[in-house]
Amino acid sequence: LPVIRAQSSEGYTPQAKFYRVEAILRPWRIPQVSLALLKMGIRGVTVSDVRGFGAQGGLTERQAGSEFSEDKFVAKVKMEIVVSKDQVEAVIDKIIEEARTGEIGDGKIFLVPISDVIRVRTGERGEKAERMVGGRSDMNSSPSDV
Ligand code: ATP
Ligand code: GLN
Repeated sequence: LPVIRAQSSEGYTPQAKFYRVEAILRPWRIPQVSLALLKMGIRGVTVSDVRGFGAQGGLTERQAGSEFSEDKFVAKVKMEIVVSKDQVEAVIDKIIEEARTGEIGDGKIFLVPISDVIRVRTGERGEKAERMVGGRSDMNSSPSDV
């Protein structure tokens, strides 16, 4: 399958420091997507089992072997990843690379501006709360910076 990238954007509105990348994907592609995200330092991910209706309609997943939709909705996984603005495009391209089959039903990605991030354990907000141990900032810094 040829590699494709997301087409360029005019810019995000509204402007925010953080965005939620919300991807509705084929369930059986999730392990591959999350492993690839982990390798690029994305450690904070939330997934939910959802059911949806798009161009694929009620056609069940052929690749899955068994049919798991009893009505017109198809089982999907919603993956939500809050990242800083400068990580958004890399995350989108990685999701496309790992989730795409080229067939109808590959899914869709929504980009949502996030007003703030608050870490419950510490009360930290903003960049401090969004940054994660083992995340990109740690991957880029040498041990002497720590
Ligand atoms: P702590 O350092 O206190 O453990 P943390 O930032 O690692 O805080 P968790 O408390 O481990 O956060 O996160 C709880 C849940 O929140 C995770 O299991 C995940 O579902 C979700 N989550 C955390 N960060 C993100 C993120 N950046 N994007 C999406 N979901 C996230
Ligand atoms: N931006 C965070 C970091 O670089 C990671 C965000 C995430 O894992 N969703 O540490």
